[in-house]
Order: sequence, then structure tokens, then C-alpha cells
Amino acid sequence: MVTDREKEKFAQSIEKWGIVSQILMLAEESGELTVAALHYVRNKKQVEAEDHLAEEIADVELMIDEIKFALLLGTKVQAYRETKLERLEQYLARARALF
Ligand SMILES: [Mg+2]
Repeated sequence: MVTDREKEKFAQSIEKWGIVSQILMLAEESGELTVAALHYVRNKKQVEAEDHLAEEIADVELMIDEIKFALLLGTKVQAYRETKLERLEQYLARARALF
């Protein structure tokens, strides 16, 4: 759930830097999350690695919410989420049937 405060900041960011810059920022933050996830596994889930992973998840969540807000993608994203969740349920059901 995106708050009014977040929406206000997202609109200000888009106005200041533009959508292309913010999409590039999403890509950059996604890369940082990738690194944090790899470090979390490699560092055997130490507290610092967990904190870094949480921080990068927050960065990516904010950028995702901003891009969804700017491009009005909320409904489409939700539809894809539901489709993919149904697919996951099917995979799990098949896996349960196999084992
Ligand atoms: Mg970051």
C-alpha cells in the first residue's frame, strides 16, 4: 500500500529527474539488490548481510512503487502477480503429486 506521502515524493522525483532517469535508478537498485542477495548467501546469513539485504529490498521496493505510480502500472502488475501465483500453485501441486 503506497501512502499519500510516498505518492507525493514519487511525483516530485519524476518531475525533477524524469521517468528515464528513474527507470535507470530502478535498474541500478536492482543490481545492488542482486549483490546483497549473493553476499547474504556467501556470508552465511550474518547480521550485517541481512541488514544490507533488507536495505536493498527497501530501495528496490520504493523504485518499483515509484515506476508503477508514474506509469500507472498497478493494475497490470497485480494481474501478472495473480497469474504467476496461480502458476506457482500448479507447480507446487505437481511437485506434491510426484513426491
Ligand atoms: Mg541501494
